[in-house]
Amino acid sequence: MTQATPPPLTATITHKALRLALPVPIHGYFDYLYPENTAITPKAGQRAEVPFGHRKLIGIIIDIDIDSELCSSKLKPVLKILDDTPAIPGNVIDMVTWASRYYGYPIGECVVNCLPPPLRKGKTTADIHIRQWHISAQDKDIKPRGRKQQALLSLLKESPKGQNEPFLKSLGYTQKQLSALESSALIQCLQIPLNQCVKNASRGYSAKPNLTPEQSRAAKRIKSSLGKFDAYLLEGITGSGKTEIYLQVIEEAIQQQKQALVLIPEINLSPQTLKRFQARFPSELIMCHHSALNDSEKLTAWETIKSGQASILIGTRSAIFYPFAELACIIVDEEHDASFKQQEGFRYSARDLAVYRAHAENCPIILGSATPSLESLHNAEVGKYHKLELKARPGDAVLPTIEYVDIKSRPLKGGLSQPVLEKIDTHLRCGQQVMIFLNRRGFSPSYGCHSCGWHAVCPHCDIRLTYHKKAWALKCHHCDFKQHLPKQCPDCHCSELFPYGVGTERTEEFLAEHFKETNIIRIDRDTTTRKNSMDRIYQDIQSGEPCIIVGTQMLAKGHHFPNITLVVVVSADDGLFIADFRAEETFAQLLIQVAGRAGRAQKKGEVLIQTRQAEHPLFAFIKKLDYSRLAESLLDERRQLNLPPYSHFALLRADADSEQDAMDVLLQLKTSLKSNNTTTSISGPYASFLPRKANRYRFQLLIHSEQRNERQKMVTETLHLIQRMRKKASVKLQLDVDPIEIG
Ligand code: ADP
Ligand code: ZN
Ligand code: ZN
Repeated sequence: MTQATPPPLTATITHKALRLALPVPIHGYFDYLYPENTAITPKAGQRAEVPFGHRKLIGIIIDIDIDSELCSSKLKPVLKILDDTPAIPGNVIDMVTWASRYYGYPIGECVVNCLPPPLRKGKTTADIHIRQWHISAQDKDIKPRGRKQQALLSLLKESPKGQNEPFLKSLGYTQKQLSALESSALIQCLQIPLNQCVKNASRGYSAKPNLTPEQSRAAKRIKSSLGKFDAYLLEGITGSGKTEIYLQVIEEAIQQQKQALVLIPEINLSPQTLKRFQARFPSELIMCHHSALNDSEKLTAWETIKSGQASILIGTRSAIFYPFAELACIIVDEEHDASFKQQEGFRYSARDLAVYRAHAENCPIILGSATPSLESLHNAEVGKYHKLELKARPGDAVLPTIEYVDIKSRPLKGGLSQPVLEKIDTHLRCGQQVMIFLNRRGFSPSYGCHSCGWHAVCPHCDIRLTYHKKAWALKCHHCDFKQHLPKQCPDCHCSELFPYGVGTERTEEFLAEHFKETNIIRIDRDTTTRKNSMDRIYQDIQSGEPCIIVGTQMLAKGHHFPNITLVVVVSADDGLFIADFRAEETFAQLLIQVAGRAGRAQKKGEVLIQTRQAEHPLFAFIKKLDYSRLAESLLDERRQLNLPPYSHFALLRADADSEQDAMDVLLQLKTSLKSNNTTTSISGPYASFLPRKANRYRFQLLIHSEQRNERQKMVTETLHLIQRMRKKASVKLQLDVDPIEIG
C-alpha cells in the first residue's frame, strides 16, 4: 500500500502493478501488486480487497499493468479480486474521475457513490432474486381486509404475469399487506433469478394523448437525436406537458431495447412519477432510486439497471452514478432545482454531471423546467443547448390569474388576511381544493418574552429556535438541539412567553378552527418523514374532495393536483431579503412553481400572494407569469456585475472550533494562493450566513474568475496547498465548486 503520487526522486526499477481508488479521504490513487493465486483476470472497474495500514479496504481497480515506480518493499499484493467482470463500467469511472478533479474531492470517496452499499461492503450480486407476486391458482372467495389490501389484490388480478416486489413497494404497498394476502392464500410469490427475469414480450404501451403542435415539434426534434449527443433545454410553463414529451421520447428509446434515466429533485415525487410511467409502460420494469430505499432495494435497482432488465430508472441526484447497460436518453426534470447539487462532502451537481454523462454515452439529454436556471438559459443563449419552448397548456387548462394582497396594515390570523380567508371560503364552497404555501415549518419561527424582548436562541448556532407546539418543544432547524418549553423568561422571569411569527403548524391550527368542516392537510418535513406518508397524503388529495393543503416548498415541486383552484402564498417577503446573488432567481422560480399548482385541469386557477412590498419590480413579472422576460433581465444584471453564469465561482469553506482557527487557515491559504492573471481574484475570508452552526465557526474564501479553466487552476492549486499545509486537525476545509449559495 502506498500512494501513487508523488513519484520517488530517483528513477528505480519499475514493477507491474494495479492502480486502485480506495475509499479514504486522500487525493490520488494507490498501487498494489497483482494478486497471487487467482484465476480472475484483473480489469478496470472490478472491486478488489487490499491491505491498508492495519485494515482491509475494498477499492476499485482504475488501471492495470501500471509501471509503478514505488520500490518493491512498499508494494503489497491485492488480497482478492471480488468481481469477474467490472462492477463499474468504464464510462462511469471516467465520469467520476472527471468529477473528482472538477469538484476537488478525493477520487476514492467519489467512486464509492457508484456502488450500492452491499457491494461497498464486499457482498456479491450472484444471488439476486426478484420476488414476483402472483394471484393464487385456485380461486378463493375471501375478501381481504382494508382498502389497501383490496387494491393490491385487484392490481394483481389485472396482472396475469404478476408484479415484482420492488414495483409494488414503490407504489406504497407494504410487506405487511403482501404477507397478509399471502397467508390468506390469495396471492403467492415466486423467486425469480435476476438473469432469468425476462422482459415481458408484449411491448404494450397504454394510450397516449395526441400531442399539441408545440409538443409534437419538440418531441420530434428530441427523438431525432436518439443515438447521438444533444442537449435540450425544454422550457415549458407549468402543466404544459413536458412530462408527456419525456414519456414519448422514452417510448422510442425502450422500443429500441434501450434505457432511460429520469432525474427528479425530490424523493416525494417518486411515487407519483413512477405511477405515471408505470401506467404508460405496464410491461416494463421501472426502478426507483432514492435515499429512503433500504440496502437490498438499492442493490436490486442497481443490478436490474446494470443488467438491462429494467428499462427506466427514476431517481434523485445520486442516480446519475448508476451503471446502465445501454443508456439512450437522460431527463433532468425541474432542472433549476437546487437539490441536484449535493451540499456536503462531494459537492457535485447531478444536472451538470448528467450533461457530461450524456456526452460520454452519446445520447440526448433533456433539461426540463418551467423556470430554467440562468445557467441553462445562458447555455442555450451561447448555443450549447437547443432551447425548445412550450407556451400553452394542452386542452382547456389555462394559466391562473395572480393578485397581490397588501398586508402592510391588515390584521392577520394564522398568517392570513381577511380577503384571503374569504377567497378560501368561496373556493371550498365550490367543492374545490386550496393550497397554502408557507416556507416555514413549526408553529412559530421565534419564541420569546413581551416584557423584556428576550428570544430563545440555539446555544450551538447563531439562530433563533423554532417553536413546535405539538412536540411541546423549541427546536433548532440547523442542528439537533431541542429543549422543553421554558416556563418563564430566563432574563426577567416573566411567566408569559409568546410565539412570534407564523409557521405551517400555526396556520394549520388556525384553519382547523376557522374551517371546522374542512379536511386540513399539512405537508412539510415534520409530517412526511415516515415512509410512504407522502403517498398517502397524495392519495387523499387526488380523491378530489374539498380540502386545504398547508405546506412548505415541498408543495412547489412538480405535483399535479387537478382539483386545486386557489393557491395562497402567505408571505412573499422573506425570500426577497436574502443576501445571495441568486436570491431573486430562486424566489421567482419558487413563486412561479407554486402558482403553477393552481388550475391544472379544466377549472381556472387563482393565486393570491400576500406581501408588504407590492411595488417590488420582481412582482410585475411574476404577475404576468413572464419568467422568460424576468430571466432576461436577471441575466442582464449578472452580465453587468460579472457574476455567474458570466464568471465562475468556487468557495473554500472552513469550519473550526474557534473563529480564530478558521480565519487563520483561510488567511494563510489566501497569502499563498497567487493568481497570475488579472481576471481571477480571491476575496475573503467572509463569515458564512450562519456564522456558527453546531458550535462550529464558519468562514470562507471566494475564488472568482472570468475563465472556467483559470478558476479550475486555482481549485487545483488550492488542493495542493491544503495537502501540504500544517493545520490543526479540528479545522475542516471543503471546496465548493460552482456553489449554489455563497453563504
Ligand atoms: P408538465 O410536466 O409540463 O407539468 P404534464 O406533462 O404533467 O405537464 O401535463 C399536464 C397535464 O396535461 C397532465 O394531466 C397531462 O396528462 C396532460 N397532457 C399533457 N399533454 C397533453 C396532450 N397533448 N393532450 C391532452 N392532455 C395532455
Ligand atoms: Zn423577559
Ligand atoms: Zn442549533
